[in-house]
Amino acid sequence: MEHLREHFKRIDRKGYKAYKDVRGRYQAKDYELMIDFVQGDPFASPSRVRLHVPLQRTVISSEDLTSSDRKRHLADGLVRRLMVAIKKYSRQSWIIDVPGQEVLERTAASFRDEDIEICLSVVLPARGRTILGKQATVYFFEQLPKIIDEALFQLDRREVERVLTLCDKQQALRQWLKREDLLAFIANDAILPRKSGVSQKPLSLSEAVLFQSPQSFSRTFELPDGEQITGMAIPNGITLFVGGGYHGKSTVLEAIERGVYDHIEGDGREFVLTDCDAVKVRAADGRAVTSVDISPFITALPFQKDTRQFSTANASGSTSQAASIIEALESGASALLIDEDTSATNFMIRDERMQTLVAKEKEPITPFVDKVTQLYEEKGISSLIVMGGSGDYFDCAHHVILLDHYQPYDVTAEAKKVSATMPSRRRNEGGSSFGTMTQRTPTPPSIQTAKGKKQVAKARSKTHIQLGVHDVDLSDVEQLVDTSQTRAIASIFQHLENERHLGHISMAALAQWIESCLDQEGLRAFTPFSSAHPGDLARPRRLEICAAFNRLRTLHIESKSV
Ligand code: ADP
Ligand code: MG
Repeated sequence: MEHLREHFKRIDRKGYKAYKDVRGRYQAKDYELMIDFVQGDPFASPSRVRLHVPLQRTVISSEDLTSSDRKRHLADGLVRRLMVAIKKYSRQSWIIDVPGQEVLERTAASFRDEDIEICLSVVLPARGRTILGKQATVYFFEQLPKIIDEALFQLDRREVERVLTLCDKQQALRQWLKREDLLAFIANDAILPRKSGVSQKPLSLSEAVLFQSPQSFSRTFELPDGEQITGMAIPNGITLFVGGGYHGKSTVLEAIERGVYDHIEGDGREFVLTDCDAVKVRAADGRAVTSVDISPFITALPFQKDTRQFSTANASGSTSQAASIIEALESGASALLIDEDTSATNFMIRDERMQTLVAKEKEPITPFVDKVTQLYEEKGISSLIVMGGSGDYFDCAHHVILLDHYQPYDVTAEAKKVSATMPSRRRNEGGSSFGTMTQRTPTPPSIQTAKGKKQVAKARSKTHIQLGVHDVDLSDVEQLVDTSQTRAIASIFQHLENERHLGHISMAALAQWIESCLDQEGLRAFTPFSSAHPGDLARPRRLEICAAFNRLRTLHIESKSV
């Protein structure tokens, strides 16, 4: 570190470019410091610094790190502590990738062998373009040690235990969901509503109606420490949420959507857990669709447009929703989560009167209501549907839950009675089986990061990736919850292009392969090799990676029927 101090002294008052000299590796008393990247000017993206802190210097021991889930939770806890310490000791200089309410695997902090690896960014100080060496010395020799001391060395054992206990409970519950063939679990007293449409923080206790399971869905699970947790267990199958407008249907569904991720203590959704492979699908008119076999839902489009390899640069509501479902199945979804608010009506329902006026031969769409049972019985895909506007799903639903003043009630029996006494005279248009599935192989021109002489693959926001001269719109991918996940997807794309991985295997196999790389090597597996510093990535699910792939307007597919 004394070398670094001398560097700063020597380049003080020089032009900004002289900062380039400080790149390198330095040994401090308590950690190793690596300056991986130095910004070219004061307004460019910040410089990148990595720390290796020996586990031994903290109260975390290798016995705490017995699973990837525990590592993820503890690392997340450290990032949050670093965030607080940075705020306290450095006004604008140090930066860490800030997590939201979810506990995601992220590169900002991770465990490697005997070390904790921390990735930070820092704006190296200047007046105009003149280096402020003394100020830089303050950053690295006063602020940084204080930040590390408070966030890591002052960490006490009780906090470690708290994080691990919550993690272990969540994982035990997830395993129980699997064993019991449940789609989701919502604990009693969970807080589902959020503060606002733009904040994932919980609505205050004085305003929120806490969740209480209907008696018939109530299950109690005994946690590893003997504590009992009771709540609503939603079995796999076809489940319908009904109820008046503004009675909380979408709020429940959104909580279930996010239940594929773990949440931090205090979020209110700590024990709202959903099968990790459940996928929210919605209509997104205007999206591109490339060679998707949507024939289970849509056939005989005007002018004989092929729906077994359906491509369009501008999908309609119904075709986009059909494509999103088929794509989700291809990437290994276990369940579909659907909200009427974001669905195409003509994709979801088609009533008796419409069947009479517009003959089946004139309607390309087979509505989801006639496919949902086949999906479950033939393919084992559950569906959870919010539908306040039509009773047509009563016949096929296994469970019907009414939301009234934000409280759920089991109305399955009543709904079945309505089905029996007021039989729907609509004809089932679903045919004898779900239909064909086609294997798709993405080929190299799919990913084009070239922009002039440069390669560009970056997240512009949570919902937009720039690849070369192209923009990828992910705004309908609702379970992408963190910009750092979007950045990770961009860097996966870059990697796939550079390593020439495309053209050999199907989309489904590619998704599996990416997932197993992430399992084994973590996000590092896909870090752009131009930088040692992975910085600000968080792990996306296989399902969102595929969703992004499928939204590339440059996607190029070779397909074959299976
Ligand atoms: P629906 O889909 O049934 O029309 P929403 O789920 O959109 O209704 O909820 C309507 C409003 O009620 C939203 O502003 C939401 O934040 C609020 N809300 C939902 N659930 C609760 C709850 N449990 N406690 C308090 N407010 C809630
Ligand atoms: Mg709604």
